[in-house]
Parts: sequence; structure tokens; C-alpha cells
Amino acid sequence: MKTLKDFNFENKKAIIRVDFNVPLNSEFQVTDATRIQAAKSTIIDILEQGGSCVLMSHLGRPKGFQQEFSLQHIVKSVVDIIGCNVKFVEDCVGAKAEAAVANLVPSEILLLENLRFYEEEEKGAIDFAEKLSKLGDIYVNDAFGTAHRAHASTTIIAQFFEGNKCFGNLLAREIESIDKVLNNSERPVLAILGGAKISSKITVIENILDKVDHLIIGGGMSFTFIKAQGGTIGNSICEDDKMELALEILKQAKAKGVEVHIPVDVVAADDFSNDANTQIIDINQIPEGWEGVDAGPKSRANFDAVVNTCKTILWNGPLGVFEMEAFAAGTIALGHSIDKATKNGAFSLVGGGDSVAAVKQFGFAEKVSYVSTGGGAMLEMLEGKTLPGIDAILK
Ligand code: AMP
Repeated sequence: MKTLKDFNFENKKAIIRVDFNVPLNSEFQVTDATRIQAAKSTIIDILEQGGSCVLMSHLGRPKGFQQEFSLQHIVKSVVDIIGCNVKFVEDCVGAKAEAAVANLVPSEILLLENLRFYEEEEKGAIDFAEKLSKLGDIYVNDAFGTAHRAHASTTIIAQFFEGNKCFGNLLAREIESIDKVLNNSERPVLAILGGAKISSKITVIENILDKVDHLIIGGGMSFTFIKAQGGTIGNSICEDDKMELALEILKQAKAKGVEVHIPVDVVAADDFSNDANTQIIDINQIPEGWEGVDAGPKSRANFDAVVNTCKTILWNGPLGVFEMEAFAAGTIALGHSIDKATKNGAFSLVGGGDSVAAVKQFGFAEKVSYVSTGGGAMLEMLEGKTLPGIDAILK
């Protein structure tokens, strides 16, 4: 696996695919700069060696050139975070971009305009990728968030850099962290899967059953398992067409020696709102008119015990409707359990959309071993897929 360490960037121009797809407010100010922060280490390493950085990214889903999606809006944030001047060019390919690159001197940074102003980017067009490849000597992919897409800048471009391509620090760390959970893990290994639906995570469950000793199934998806086993779940979220699959998963887990832990009690609410009436109730006996919205206290204690016996922990998906304060306690309790286990030496990886939002919101992001930056990309790796963006560097 080639990383920055395998190259000398002195007097070289690195063309770096970063993920600067950050949220902007109505005044076009960056409201969460985590992704820019995440690319800092790669940029600094290259600048310090006397190389220059040509940064390329997409922002949002523009249809052609649309000023509101211009990466110009984020230049100030990049300057603030990286701590040096950043040049900007109003195109990502062609004469203007090439001239801007030609004028770049060692230790300078140039940000290209939004890649998705060209539909060729998402189409993975080879001639567009070739034009991009003219803008650097060494290709560095540091965008985990788009590594599962075979786009021009994330995958196709790599073929023009035979022997001159590598992973940036962020992408390398993402790969190492997932590898540490799936392939080089210290046992016992625990996967915690929560969130709304089992349908979006079936392939993940099937793939990780071969890798883990314990599986916690929480959140909305647990009700499909409970109903399939004959429990009464009231108005809780459930995928009736996945009940057979749920039973099959339990059977497979048993055959593979994986211990499955499902909530035994829940916080049930009579309305899907913060000020609903609630009761703590056996998960198998939720009355009509009530729905399970969070893990109950017995479940939290059970999960705490499991988490604390494990040496490797993967967490994807909240244990309840954590966006509502009244239903966040189960997810917060799990965060505390993982924090404790991590302090005791476990490796903990949090990834995939909503659990990342939850750990940030509740202050656990600094307490776990690693928080992944890629939702879809992370899920696809957990499904056992080879991501095209990663494969293109390894080839
Ligand atoms: P996912 O994207 O599949 O990880 O699902 C995350 C979403 O699941 C969050 O928005 C949670 O509010 C939601 N969720 C978790 N537990 C429940 C539940 N018991 N009922 C309904 N939604 C839930």
C-alpha cells in the first residue's frame, strides 16, 4: 500500500483528491469544516517537503456551472485551517487550470473549481480524467467519502499515474482502521449495528458474521427481529418482508458461534415526538399505540457488559431516535460504554452516517479510537467490497 512516505515531493506538484464537500449556510459560510480539517495532515506533509498541492473536490450536486456550488466559497476556511495562502482557479481542467498549475511554486496550494461542474466527473469519463491528470506529477487520493465511486477524479485518473500514485494520510488511516476491525482484530470482536432499517445493512451483517464474536442489534432494526420471533411490537418500526431474513441471520450467527444481543426492554412512546408520554417496557410486549424509540435501562446494562469484554468494537447506527433528546439516552449510554472500553485498551471504530453524527453531538468523537469520515464508503467496505478508488491506487 503506497502512502506519502513512499515519495519525495520536493519540487513536485501533487494533485490531491480531497473531500471538501462541506455544508454551507445561506451566506455560503462553511458550517462544519471537519472534512477540511481531515485533509490537513496530507497537505502539510507535502508542503513541508517542498512540494506544491493542487486540490480537487466536488461540492454538492450542481447541474453544470452554478455559482452557488463554487468552491470559491470555502477558500477562506481552507486558509484558516491549513494556515497558509490558498490560490483558487475558476475551472478544474483546461487552459486556465493548466496555467494556474504552471505558475505554482513549491509550498503553494491551488484549489480547483468544483469537479462536478462537469458531468464527465461522475460519469468517470476517461478524457476528462486525462485532462485532470495534466495538473500534477503525483496523484494522491485522500477522499474516503468518495472512494466507493468510480468517478474521474477518484478512480479513472489513477491510470495516468503509473508508479506515481498513493493514498493520503486520511485515506490510509481509514483503510488501516477498517482492516484492524475486519482482518487484524484483537478478539473478542464486537459489531454494534443500529439505525432504522435492516434492509440497508443486510450485506454488512452477512459479511461481518464471519469476523465477529458478538453482534449487538439495536435501534429500529431490532423490532423486525423481535416480531419475527413472536414478540408484540405495537407501532414500532418494522420491515415485515425482512422477518424471514432476520430469522435466517440469527440461524447463521448461531452456526458461526456469534453471540447476538438484542434489546430486552425499550423506551416506548405514544407519539413520535420529544414530548410524547413514555414508558419502559419489555421489548416483546409493546402495546398497540406505542412504539419503541430507545433502548431501555436493562438493555443498556447488558450492552455495557458486552462492550466491556471486547477488545475490538465497531459501531454503526444509533440505538434509538437520538435526534430527539427524550430518546437519546440509550445511544449516549452506549457511547459511555465504548469510551470506557477504549480507555481499557479496546480499539473502537465508529462509522457510517448517523452514528458519526451521534458521537459528535454527544462528545464521544475524541474518546473512541477512530471516527470514519465516509458513510457509504465505510458501509461498502464493511460489506466486503473492494472500493474502486482504493483499488485504482493498489493496481
Ligand atoms: P441508519 O441511517 O439506518 O443508521 O438509521 C439512523 C436513524 O435511525 C436515525 O435517524 C434514528 O433516529 C433512527 N432510529 C433509531 N432507532 C429508531 C427507532 N427505534 N425507531 C425509529 N427510528 C429509529
